[in-house]
Amino acid sequence: MLANFSYVRTQSVDEAVEHLSDSGARLHAGGTDLLGCLRDGTFSADKVVSLSGIEQLSGIRPASDGGLRIGALTRISEVASSALVKERYPGLAQAAGGVASPQLRNQGTLGGNLCQRPRCWYYRGEFHCLKKGGTKCYALDGENRYHAIFGGGPCYIVHPSDTAPALISLKAKLIIQGRKGERSLPVEEFFELPTMNLTGENVLLRGDVVTEIALPGETAGWKSSYRKVRERGAWDFALSSLALALRLNGSRVLQARAVLGGVAPIPWRCKAIEEAVTGKQLDSAIARQAALAAVEGAEPMEQNGYKVALVRGIVEESLLAMA
Ligand SMILES: Cc1cc2nc3c(=O)[nH]c(=O)nc-3n(C[C@H](O)[C@H](O)[C@H](O)COP(=O)(O)OP(=O)(O)OC[C@H]3O[C@@H](n4cnc5c(N)ncnc54)[C@H](O)[C@@H]3O)c2cc1C
Ligand code: SF4
Repeated sequence: MLANFSYVRTQSVDEAVEHLSDSGARLHAGGTDLLGCLRDGTFSADKVVSLSGIEQLSGIRPASDGGLRIGALTRISEVASSALVKERYPGLAQAAGGVASPQLRNQGTLGGNLCQRPRCWYYRGEFHCLKKGGTKCYALDGENRYHAIFGGGPCYIVHPSDTAPALISLKAKLIIQGRKGERSLPVEEFFELPTMNLTGENVLLRGDVVTEIALPGETAGWKSSYRKVRERGAWDFALSSLALALRLNGSRVLQARAVLGGVAPIPWRCKAIEEAVTGKQLDSAIARQAALAAVEGAEPMEQNGYKVALVRGIVEESLLAMA
């Protein structure tokens, strides 16, 4: 059952920042994650601050550098179907198209997809684990088949968003408005490991609103893709995924960016893949070499060793599909 809270529908970002500066206030975008968390008691809110009245936060528009600016309130379905996104950043369109179900893509926003809370079932359940300020990670000796194989400890969540790895592979930036004004940072620097931030997942401070996602002109001509493996055929989070963005000359790789999803507490930039393919002609031998390099250093838990083979598989498949 939902506990009582007050509800404010703000008309400007400044107004939203002011309301969100109160402790106990929570930002509401599409609500597909927030309302579930409030209903399940994962966390509580005294005040829910809706952005839905701020029209300027929606929409996709070309930027002067040949890139795109996407408002944080833009629906995930709009990102998936946008002709501009498909043409310039196909990897992002594929990632958005792979999120959840059509209904959730129609209601969920791109900003909300990046800021959604993790899905660890202990965290979402009635367990007062480390992430909730408790003293124990229940996944460590418990049910950990969906947890991290890279970067885990002391909490072993995996980052849930499909669009985040794609945005990082494409060198996107976030525009954030907060109590001290506006700032911009690469999406890659937005997420934080549990060793840095145990109870949160990113650098947002109280009062902050992600207002826009900026895709640079630099990667607009790159070949990009997003490949996702899930347990059910559809409507499910990634067991593992790979966002790839390559600058190619024929089949020779001039520059590469590779980001794994579903395997670490943050979208996991995999420089081993990038180094294995850069300067090379993409062929099956290089794809296999990159796949092996990708899992070096993986630290599976008791029940999630299968993710190592999954990662190898999607890396090899994605590179061959690009070739
Ligand atoms: C059954 C189910 C299946 C799903 N499957 C997938 C999947 O396969 N892949 C995937 O990527 N996701 C999946 N999701 C998650 C879903 O995509 C997210 O719930 C959705 O993207 C969140 O967007 P929203 O606008 O509804 O966010 P909200 O629920 O409104 O907000 C989510 C969180 O982000 C914060 N927030 C939202 N917008 C901003 C902003 N602009 N600035 C700062 N903070 C903000 C909110 O305060 C809240 O904490 C699934 C969800 C469900 C329920
Ligand atoms: S993995 Fe993180 S969220 Fe899950 S039980 Fe452990 S500390 Fe809690």
